[in-house]
Parts: sequence; structure tokens; C-alpha cells
Amino acid sequence: MHKHHSALGVATALKPAAPVTLIRPQAAARAARFFSEKFPGRSLYAVKANPSPDLIRTLFASGITHFDVASIAEVRLVAETLQGEGKLCFMHPVKAEEAIAEAYHIHGVRTFSLDTLDELAKIMRATNDATDLELCVRLRVSSEHSELSLASKFGAELGETRELLMATRQAADALGICFHVGSQAMSPQAYSDAIERVRAAIVDAAVTVDIIDVGGGFPSIYPGMEPVALENYFDAIHRGFESLPISYSAELWCEPGRALSAEYSSVVVRVERRRGTELYINDGAYGALFDAAHIGWRFPVALLREEESEAELTGFSFYGPTCDDMDHMVGPFMLPDDVQAGDYIEIGMLGAYGAAMRTGFNGFTSEAVVEVEDEPMASLYVDAIPVRRRATVIKLG
Ligand SMILES: *Cc1c(COP(=O)(O)O)cnc(C)c1O
Repeated sequence: MHKHHSALGVATALKPAAPVTLIRPQAAARAARFFSEKFPGRSLYAVKANPSPDLIRTLFASGITHFDVASIAEVRLVAETLQGEGKLCFMHPVKAEEAIAEAYHIHGVRTFSLDTLDELAKIMRATNDATDLELCVRLRVSSEHSELSLASKFGAELGETRELLMATRQAADALGICFHVGSQAMSPQAYSDAIERVRAAIVDAAVTVDIIDVGGGFPSIYPGMEPVALENYFDAIHRGFESLPISYSAELWCEPGRALSAEYSSVVVRVERRRGTELYINDGAYGALFDAAHIGWRFPVALLREEESEAELTGFSFYGPTCDDMDHMVGPFMLPDDVQAGDYIEIGMLGAYGAAMRTGFNGFTSEAVVEVEDEPMASLYVDAIPVRRRATVIKLG
């Protein structure tokens, strides 16, 4: 793989005609070390956020040994990437029976989640009534503190949890309770509230619980979304966990996706046309900018020019390259007012649910990946990112 010093170096040296994904393994390694050293339990990487084999290897080398997978393709991918090292946990509550069987019998997966008695029966059938299962019952919790809800689709309701926990306790070697507070949770309170739900469920069912899995949702940093330090989340979770009626040997798990991968990637795009404050760029809704288009997510941007622009920052919106109006990212993305066709822009923090979601729709796609050594455009893991491209780098907020 090509290696360059910086995003600016990529733009000026390569003058790429198609978008280029930049990867920063050092940023992902830093995030992995942070979670493995500071989270008061075990951290599973949620592979769906970014299934890049290079990223998976980087996280593994930096202390993330467990992986939350949701499909048989993700099971195979991680098994192959790590050659059987690394432990896989199949945490999708609605699985194909064939997928469970292959995961159990071929890939050695022992940990599964579920939120209904039907899924429990399915898991037992697919594993021939295995006696070595770790089964995590998924509770439905509120997404009120999160930017992206995961509250509607999965999770047992109050009232259903008692029977389900008791039946799962009977079947499992280890019984877990898991939940997901929604992605980009902007307050540690999300976890404290969810843990109270867990407490009620445990008391109601009077079962012995071996694993508490607080799921994903740990935030990254974007314009207008600057969370408090992750230590505050870890403290709230630790306090909640310590106060639960569970055994001394119970384990605490989490499943960060976004927080481990967001800083790993950004994308360098080219402006093909300017119309007022609308920039037509060569990546968009069907490329790495799905969230920017569909839920108006804002990402940090920087103009990549050898000679820094002195112009005032202005809010721009983006059009992607396909032929439909939906390929539109409203922003605002703050760039110097003299930005024009032919300019290159770095769009940052696309390592989670960005670079991984690229499609080939309308013939616009790009496989180009370049490793760079400069810092990501923002970070939750370093206090101060050295300010680069001073005039053009946008201050978050
Ligand atoms: C998506 C998902 C995650 C990761 O969520 P983030 O918000 O990216 O941290 C973790 N666990 C489960 C079950 C998920 O579906």
C-alpha cells in the first residue's frame, strides 16, 4: 500500500481523479489501547462499523481480542483475517439457523445473543443442544441520549424478560444480559439508565447473571457533537455494574464500533463544479457519505491547498456524483469562500459507517486506499491535535 506523510501530500502528489480513502492505523491503535487499558472490563469491536481486515488486524495487535459479529459473512471475515485467533461473539438477535450452525460447528463461536424464546430454540437446535454456550439476552432500552436510535428493532420488553431470562439460564453455561443505547450516545446517563433496566430484569427473574454487556454507542467527535471524555462513560458504567445484584465473578463487556473506528479513515474528494455555495464533489450518498446525506450528519472538512487560503469560512452543501437529487449532503461544511472546481477537500472522521458503506451505484466508486501518518482531523484520544493547515482546518463546534 502507498504511504504518504499527510492528506495534503496525497492531494498534491497524486492529484487523484476519484475519491481516495485515507487510513490512519496509528489512530485506530490508539483507540484500541485506550479501551483495552481504561474500560473496566472487556471491549469487543463491533465489526459492522468498519470491516476492513487491515483495521481488524490493527485493533487485534493493540489489545482488542474479541469481536462482535452480526452475520455469517462477518464471522468468516474475522476468522480468516485473524486465522482463528480472536474470539467471536454473534450478537445479532435474529440469526439464520444455518449461520448459527456454521458459526458454532465450524468457527468455534460460543457466544450468541437473543431476544425471544423462538431464537433461543433456534440456537439450541442449530448447536444440537450444546452445553457450552454463553447466551446474552438483549433488553430493549431507550435511545433518548443517542443521535441514532437502535431502540425499535431489537430487545425484549419489560414483561417478556422474566420468562426469557429463566429459560435462557436453563440452557446456557453462562448467562449474559446485553443492550444497545443507540449510536453516538451523547451522555453517560444513557448507560446508567439502561443498567437500571438490567437491575429490574435481574430482580424480577431472580437469575444468576454472569455477563453484563453494555453494547456500543460510545461517541466520536464531529462538528456540533462534542461529547464529554470517555472516562466519564466508563465511570458511569463501572458504578452501575458494581451496584448490580450479580456474582463477584461476573464479567463486564462493551461493544464499541464507532469509537474504535471513526478516526481510522477520512476521504479526499475533488470539487468538480461550484454553484453558489453548493459544491459538486466526486463522492456522496452512495459512497462514503451515507450518514451525511440521509441523516444530515456533519463531518469536519479541510481544503487541501499547498498555499493556504486566506478567505473567510463559509457554509457549503455538497452534491455527490450520481444523477439523482438524493445524492445531497446538506452540511453546512465550513470551507474557505474561494474554494473552486479542481480543489481537493479532506472529509474527516469517516472510519465508522462511512468508508465501509461505499457502493458502486451509477459507476461511481473507488477502491483507492492510501495510508497517511498525520493526525485525524479530531480525536477523543489526544488532548490537542497539532493544528495543521491552520487557515483551512475547521474548528469543531
Ligand atoms: C452496531 C452495534 C454496535 C456498535 O455500535 P456503535 O454505536 O458503533 O458503538 C454494537 N453492538 C451491537 C449489537 C450493534 O448492533
